[in-house]
Amino acid sequence: MNKIKLLAEDTVRKIAAGEVINRPASVVKELLENSIDAQSQKITIELKQGGKNLIKIIDDGIGMSRDDVRLAIQRHATSKLETIDDLNTLKSYGFRGEALSSIAAVSRLKIETNHDDKMAGTALSAEDGEIKEIKEIGRARGTTISVQTLFYNLPVRRGFLKSDSYENKLILETVSAYAIAYPAIHFTVIADGKEILNLARTESSKERLKLFLDKSVFLNLFEFRYSNPMLSFFGFISAPETAKTFYELQQVFFNLRPVRNRTVVKAIYDGYSGTLMGRNPNFVVFLETNPQNLDVNIHPTKNEVKFTDERFLFDFVSEAIRKTLGVQKRAEISEDTMLFQRSLMDTEEIGTGFWQLHSSYIFAQIQSGYCIIDQHAAAERIIFEDVLKKDEKVNTQGLLFPIVIELTPEEFSVYEETKETLSALGIETKVFSGRSVVCETIPASTALNKQDIKEFFVELTKIDKEQLSHKEEIAKQIACKGAIKANQRLSQPEMEALINKLFACKDPYFCPHGRPTIIKMTRDELDKKFGR
Ligand code: ADP
Ligand code: MG
Repeated sequence: MNKIKLLAEDTVRKIAAGEVINRPASVVKELLENSIDAQSQKITIELKQGGKNLIKIIDDGIGMSRDDVRLAIQRHATSKLETIDDLNTLKSYGFRGEALSSIAAVSRLKIETNHDDKMAGTALSAEDGEIKEIKEIGRARGTTISVQTLFYNLPVRRGFLKSDSYENKLILETVSAYAIAYPAIHFTVIADGKEILNLARTESSKERLKLFLDKSVFLNLFEFRYSNPMLSFFGFISAPETAKTFYELQQVFFNLRPVRNRTVVKAIYDGYSGTLMGRNPNFVVFLETNPQNLDVNIHPTKNEVKFTDERFLFDFVSEAIRKTLGVQKRAEISEDTMLFQRSLMDTEEIGTGFWQLHSSYIFAQIQSGYCIIDQHAAAERIIFEDVLKKDEKVNTQGLLFPIVIELTPEEFSVYEETKETLSALGIETKVFSGRSVVCETIPASTALNKQDIKEFFVELTKIDKEQLSHKEEIAKQIACKGAIKANQRLSQPEMEALINKLFACKDPYFCPHGRPTIIKMTRDELDKKFGR
């Protein structure tokens, strides 16, 4: 007797269904995509018990004829693809003809549909993937699909579903993504008789974002658009200052498909470079490319896609983010610089300039309100950019009394590894004898003393080997040790020089570790606080 047997058809169907449909949210995703593919203007979703007992989706799209509905619930039945080459020009979400057959295999399914208002519509019900009844009904053009008791015939899988509220939350996340991509579609979600989302059609994705983001995050979104023959990249990213430990929304669309794409997400974080300090930004970004550059067939639920040139994708995205944040900053910088110059003129007339608070913060009046500068962070930024100047030799100061320090074996081995970089960054050294090292020059923008240099080497031993090969990493440490400290009194000219140098930096708003250098407070905010 043969050990190998062909599986029964309904077993095959259930196994295949399991790949596409794993919880109520995945049913909602597939049905939403079908309604959007059918050019619907209005889509309503009704849920019972987190979609476990009912998911009903009502649309006003192109609908189906009686013959089409019969076919729709069979495997590999689709109106969207004829040959594999059609994938190169694919505009629809669907193409595998798997969703309705999968849902039919694991639920009690009802379809009511009509493709022509002048004719009768069709109602079909199915159980275990088989048609139980099909009849004529009256229905306006469009389709209603009801999915009852999901996984009633797969009790183990049904048992894995979570609480109603958790399943509802996942469904809402799914609906939100499509609602952002399709602002012109009216979406409604009703859960256990209660309307939990009602998004009337609107002009732009941005209007929709207002509903999903905290107000301060929304008001500080940067909108951008970059294009090249391969790729268009546009969307919204949050200002680094508004980033928090947890983000509210991070959504990537590729050809309007909500996808998870590690390359894009990594590239976005890379574009923010040092400004996040472990916090997470909000972003909603859209990538568009010719369908032939995008493989949408690598994942059963089509949540993941693959672009032909991932390296190019990474570089393009990170550069676009960098530019967006940079452009925005340059505009702010020139505004702030002007405000400072004007307020300096003012102060030359009321006699007082900057105030130093607690010998650590500089307090300055500007036209629109006031700002506070962290003197240490500001000095760090200035030194960091100074020692990393491209194509220019770092200005150094020769030390009249060279600093001699005695290094531990560990520090000495780090020293040997980094001495070339140190010299490129303005610290010229020589070995004096044994593990004694002489520092002959330091960067002109610093006031490094013996204690600072000793601490500097201690810090270097804490950096891991791979990081140590990065010039920026070492520059950060020089900046940190060489910067004026907190608790140091500064004269008026010293404060003014510091602020002027800060605004001459490329990236004045953050220290090299990503902490803010300046906090601004507007008169409006002050007035509000005082209840004016
Ligand atoms: P696919 O979307 O990959 O084609 P599905 O199983 O999701 O496969 O759907 C099968 C077919 O049923 C679709 O190709 C489409 O012709 C039809 N269909 C499904 N849902 C709708 C709908 N809401 N409105 C109109 N036609 C639909
Ligand atoms: Mg589909």
